[in-house]
Amino acid sequence: MSTKIRVRFAPSPTGHLHIGSVRVAIFNWLYAKHNNGTYLVRIEDTDQQRSTKEFLDSQLDSLRWLNLLSDEPIVYQMSRVEEHKKLVKKMLDDGSAYPCFCNLEELAEKRAAKEAVGGAYKYEGICRNKKWTESDLLKPHAIRFKIPENLLTLDFDDLIRGNIKIDADLLDDFIIMRRDGTPTYNFVVVADDIYMQITHVIRGEDHISNTHKQVLIYKALKANLPVFVHLPLILGTAGNKLSKRDAAVSVQEYKQNGFIAAALFNYLVRLGWSHGDQELFSLDEMIKYFDFDHVGKKGSIFDVKKLEWMNGVYIRQSSFDDLFVAIKELGGDYVERLNSLWSKEQLIELFEQYKQRVTRLLDMVLDIISLSNDPKTLDLNLVSKWSTPKIVDVLEVFLVEFEKTNDFSHDYLLNLAKVTVAKFDLKLVNLAQHLRLALTGKVFSPGVFELIKILGKEVVVNRIKFLIKLLTLNVSSKKINN
Ligand code: GLU
Repeated sequence: MSTKIRVRFAPSPTGHLHIGSVRVAIFNWLYAKHNNGTYLVRIEDTDQQRSTKEFLDSQLDSLRWLNLLSDEPIVYQMSRVEEHKKLVKKMLDDGSAYPCFCNLEELAEKRAAKEAVGGAYKYEGICRNKKWTESDLLKPHAIRFKIPENLLTLDFDDLIRGNIKIDADLLDDFIIMRRDGTPTYNFVVVADDIYMQITHVIRGEDHISNTHKQVLIYKALKANLPVFVHLPLILGTAGNKLSKRDAAVSVQEYKQNGFIAAALFNYLVRLGWSHGDQELFSLDEMIKYFDFDHVGKKGSIFDVKKLEWMNGVYIRQSSFDDLFVAIKELGGDYVERLNSLWSKEQLIELFEQYKQRVTRLLDMVLDIISLSNDPKTLDLNLVSKWSTPKIVDVLEVFLVEFEKTNDFSHDYLLNLAKVTVAKFDLKLVNLAQHLRLALTGKVFSPGVFELIKILGKEVVVNRIKFLIKLLTLNVSSKKINN
């Protein structure tokens, strides 16, 4: 009988969602969808000091943005504390755990002494075989897991790394419940994975070192082991674990900087998983092809440039409406500003033009917003490469003809520009770059003739006149200085 696959993503709300964590969520989600299984989210909020509402909201927003919310109601670990306590009591009663009354300071001193000489402290088991009664439990105590006798090695099978074995004497009777009554991470993870009937534990390989302890707890609780899948980490360029020094690490930053959710999703899937040489996948393709046979053991280097390239591809593939939805996700009042500065027809044209070159949506939005204002100053140095003493005359001739026409088609304007420069024995680029500067204040922009059409006659005339004025002033100030 095959059991239905159930996986979970289990973030701790102690920071914004990390790009590495969200890839773990994606792999869980894809594995579930590929197998017609269930993907769940569990919030590991037992660290009450470091968990905050702000981080929780931010993490849930990141998951929503990437379409990674839970298929069933989210499980909050804190809401299960009473269940955890009952389970610990059961383990006390069946002898798989015991109360430890050792003095905390003494233990801390022993640990410090051992660590000072480079060793690792292991609990000697002082309370391991002590008899205790219910009334002893009124005294301050922690609860320790009792590692079974005569164990030489501990191992578990990992779907990516195979069998992972360690010497049993690396472990000591570890604490499953602290003196303050809060259960520890390794214990609650197992308790909740059993409760949620998780069949596959898919997480970062930084949790391999916890897994042997968790396996012991599963066995003590006589529960079936899940399949373990430890994913290699995302690395920075120097092969280190990806950190803020390498790139933005929080999903929120990518969202606010203008990455499209589907692009980030696609990029992160490819980071560590492959399907031949294919880079771009529809969601259906990812679900269809995803498996762990094509997840490598090695960490993958995070490459912002590749992500930007992919984002550009997704932006170009997006419809006007999709882009608007994505712009809403940037936060701020960008949508309102765009709508107040441009008509819908203009925005449709502007998006079409600007999306051709852009890698981040925010850059495109900011460019379109700034295009609505007549430039207040222009940096003439930007066009010095294309400037000649004749350029003012060229612009003036172009302007005179332009003012006469009502034909703003690309072909007509291009021809007008060509005819104009030919009269002065110049190249099209000399005029085009000056027009670009006049209209946008920049020398990189979408096609200048397309922009002319969108901006309309009056705006274009004013902006060209402004450039002519500055160029004329510039020439005369040069004359005076000479
Ligand atoms: N809460 C853990 C973390 O954020 C995940 C634990 C797990 O997946 O087992 O790293």
